[in-house]
Amino acid sequence: MKNSVDKLGFYGEFGGAFIPELLQQNVRELQEKYLDIIESHNFQEKFRKLLRDYVGRPSPLYFAKRLSNKYKTRIYLKREDLNHTGSHKINNTIGQILLARELGKKRIIAETGAGQHGVATATVAALAGLECVVYMGEKDIERQAPNVMRMKMLGAEVRPAKSGSKTLKDATNEAIRDWINHPQDTHYIIGSVVGPHPYPDMVARFQSVISEEMKKQLKEQTGRDFPDKIIACIGGGSNAAGAYYHFLDNEKVELISVEAGGMGIDSGHSAATSILGSPGVIHASKTLLMQDKDGQIIEPYSISAGLDYPGIGPLHAHLIKTGRSTVLHATDEEALQAGFELTRLEGIIPALESAHALAALSKLKFKSGEVVVVNLSGRGDKDMATYLKHLNI
Ligand SMILES: *Cc1c(COP(=O)(O)O)cnc(C)c1O
Repeated sequence: MKNSVDKLGFYGEFGGAFIPELLQQNVRELQEKYLDIIESHNFQEKFRKLLRDYVGRPSPLYFAKRLSNKYKTRIYLKREDLNHTGSHKINNTIGQILLARELGKKRIIAETGAGQHGVATATVAALAGLECVVYMGEKDIERQAPNVMRMKMLGAEVRPAKSGSKTLKDATNEAIRDWINHPQDTHYIIGSVVGPHPYPDMVARFQSVISEEMKKQLKEQTGRDFPDKIIACIGGGSNAAGAYYHFLDNEKVELISVEAGGMGIDSGHSAATSILGSPGVIHASKTLLMQDKDGQIIEPYSISAGLDYPGIGPLHAHLIKTGRSTVLHATDEEALQAGFELTRLEGIIPALESAHALAALSKLKFKSGEVVVVNLSGRGDKDMATYLKHLNI
């Protein structure tokens, strides 16, 4: 498969594990063991059971009739918004908590930006009865109070990252430092298809349940087990990786990734990594990232905290570079409008991240009868304050 990872963790020129000496032991342990563990019958049985009984999978594939009429094509929504904790992130954290147990780890750490991954991690740590520390930028702690309360109620300790811009990348640096200091007993649950090998591949495998279900559901509902187009938003790229996974080598399926255009790609306030980014190393992986000419990371911006990341996973850098995926951009304004549109046409309030994927519908041309799947990565409860602020414009 030309779009899967090689032995050293590369997708073409992107990926790898550019780690400091002090992390070698932890990362090598994962690299050596992850595939044997997650492919074992025993692991798969536990993973599948929890996805079914705890997360609520399979998530429905819903034919959105009124939305389809508007865009004159057949639009299906993959309902990751209906999962426990409200997004696709739980698919990955369930997988990683089981892995941590198999490795005999006693303590869980994670980084979080908006708090969605932090909540999904605190949830599975409670489920497994393991100690959990979540690193979060001091600024994000102020901005995302409801999720901070959820994490605390779930028993996690939320530690503020006080360096740099006090946001996600600083929280990630703190989490890495913690991991270096606790190499024996701690597992680091990364929240997207980013970071050193094997994380991008491991997280993509856990999220691949999305496209696995999609195949079966499309066969039942359309008579064919693949769509013409899949549309997904990209922060780090985990919901997109999961939605694409089983179609990566089927060139008949067009893969459309939507990045956050923020206030406009040329405004200096966006997270349009594929256009503004260049190859470099971020969080131990070679990929496309937004950096200045001295290699300093440029602060990303998006109305949606889940897309507010200066890099993308190496799989996506590879898919973009080889032309396998197409990237579109949706501005804050376009995403808000798409969120309101889905709410009024279908009675579903999407997460602002997912609203970026929906905003692509008005930028695409469809042939009649085409089957289009939009991966609805999460629900909009967490974004109500932002939506309400813009309701009257
Ligand atoms: C975190 C998040 C995203 C972005 O992360 P990816 O790894 O790119 O999927 C998208 N949608 C929702 C609802 C999220 O919580």
